[in-house]
Amino acid sequence: MLVNLKTILKYAAEQERAIGAFNVYNLESILAVAQASQELNQPVILSFGEGYLSHAPIEVIATIVRKICAPSDIPVVLHLDHAKEFSTVMRAIRCGFTSVMYDGSYLPLEQNIANTKKIVEIAHAVGVSVEGELGYMNNEDGSCEPGFEMEKGYTSVSAAVQYANGTGIDALAVAIGNAHGIYKGIPELDFDRLGEISAAISVPVVLHGCSGIPDAAIKKAVSLGVRKINVNTEISTGAVRAAREFLVDHTEKNTRFETMLKASRQTMFETVKNYINMLGEK
Ligand SMILES: [Zn+2]
Repeated sequence: MLVNLKTILKYAAEQERAIGAFNVYNLESILAVAQASQELNQPVILSFGEGYLSHAPIEVIATIVRKICAPSDIPVVLHLDHAKEFSTVMRAIRCGFTSVMYDGSYLPLEQNIANTKKIVEIAHAVGVSVEGELGYMNNEDGSCEPGFEMEKGYTSVSAAVQYANGTGIDALAVAIGNAHGIYKGIPELDFDRLGEISAAISVPVVLHGCSGIPDAAIKKAVSLGVRKINVNTEISTGAVRAAREFLVDHTEKNTRFETMLKASRQTMFETVKNYINMLGEK
């Protein structure tokens, strides 16, 4: 059953837990996430990023997710991740996404508020939730702009209040020491800042870049009000590792692409299950 982000995060708050948002960009990743959710009977967020438009048409992704997830009783969100273009947000809403993230975090605050507010107005009119972002994170593929300094991009409490109140968003993604991609060391999250932001705004907080953040730190973040955690790198790199291992074992000329994909899908499925289980632990 498809629900919007607001509904699933309300459930998460009642349960004092967070819901995993896992990136999907093809059939294998969709099946891996959907089957993990169904096997564990737990809600999940399937997240397709604007950056994946070169991998698959968004309308096709929406059709597949709907076909697989709609008949089940388990609440599932079909979410648009990191959209910078207004047209991508409109395309997602038109083809049945139940939630969209508008990422105007690179813009001056006033402009980010104005753009997000416009999207909230349209999305809410048709029951679609909106996630916004404040603070500056590195690129989604894990790369950094030259001179990128993580601390300088941290979300400020006052800006978070101004942004949340000024836009009407349903969830706020923050930068508190989290980053996309592979961490160089063990990431240190600014829990004081997280606690202050969470207490100051009335919408749930989202943490991106959770691959590589120790379980204990994720759980602490959840205890401070994080209700959605985004995981991609660990799943994606795990799928490549599985493909590599498969190819080492299968050097014959008749090795089949579709058989290799099964190995990758199995690894993605296991990783997603581990995250869902971890998020359900108290
Ligand atoms: Zn992200």
